[in-house]
Amino acid sequence: MRIHAIQTGRVLVKRAQISGRGRGLWRQLQPVLSRQWADWSPTFAWAIEHPEGVIVVDTGAAAHLKSPPRWHPYFQLAVRFDIEPEQEAGPQLKKLGIGPRDVRTVVLTHLHVDHDGGLAHFPHSRVLADGNETARTAGIKGALLGYLPKRWPQWFDPEPIAWQPVPYGRFSHSARLTGAGDVIAIPTPGHTPNHLSVVVRDGDAQIVLAGDASYLDSTMLAGAVDGISPDENVARRTLADIRALCAQHPSVYLPSHDPNSADRLRRRDTVTTAEPPQMRNAATWPPSATIVAPVM
Ligand SMILES: [Zn+2]
Repeated sequence: MRIHAIQTGRVLVKRAQISGRGRGLWRQLQPVLSRQWADWSPTFAWAIEHPEGVIVVDTGAAAHLKSPPRWHPYFQLAVRFDIEPEQEAGPQLKKLGIGPRDVRTVVLTHLHVDHDGGLAHFPHSRVLADGNETARTAGIKGALLGYLPKRWPQWFDPEPIAWQPVPYGRFSHSARLTGAGDVIAIPTPGHTPNHLSVVVRDGDAQIVLAGDASYLDSTMLAGAVDGISPDENVARRTLADIRALCAQHPSVYLPSHDPNSADRLRRRDTVTTAEPPQMRNAATWPPSATIVAPVM
């Protein structure tokens, strides 16, 4: 099985988005209010060349994100996109010899704009997403949460993931994405309440395509909740469950915006869970109420 890292441009966010500062509503406002930008980060989509057909995990960013909604505080104050049309997922896959009709399945970890931005390149694919995640994008509330369903292709009508009560590690449910059972979706709620990740069992290791479950491997290991997750407790538990998964089985852990994800995939570098790095902002706070805040 071959897995390709497809970098769809770069994104700039605040440091307080990558590793949350403070707690509750304050934490969720920091990505907008803080003036401390992080470095430019990549936005990865992934293509799995599987014997049953190509599976694309997330569709990445698109050039239209350089013209974000003018009324939206998050898009105006908290994020910048750098991407040209030829850097979108479709043209890059074409260069690898993978055409739109070769992509059998597209799986979306969540429906934030830099993960569903490239959907237009996949009109012939079966598209899967969590049903509750899709429902959350609707109406004013969806817009405030930072979803931009108006920018989806007209045909977009994702099939809800059929979660089965089959545990995977500490995760109580999972969904097989291949007949062989070697590509599996797992629910990784936190960054969004119905965020999911995709695990590829390949030889001795499992490749964890983590979406935005964390922005970095270090924040996952430290249990540091990001500045976006609506519920800190849910997010923290997911990070702990991912860490346990990585401790159980050699795992190549690949967040969508981790600058080292492509290198780790190429080298098949597995996570070492024995000595997590010390993080200044490791989140250990009590739960906060779920609130509406602009998110990415
Ligand atoms: Zn996101």
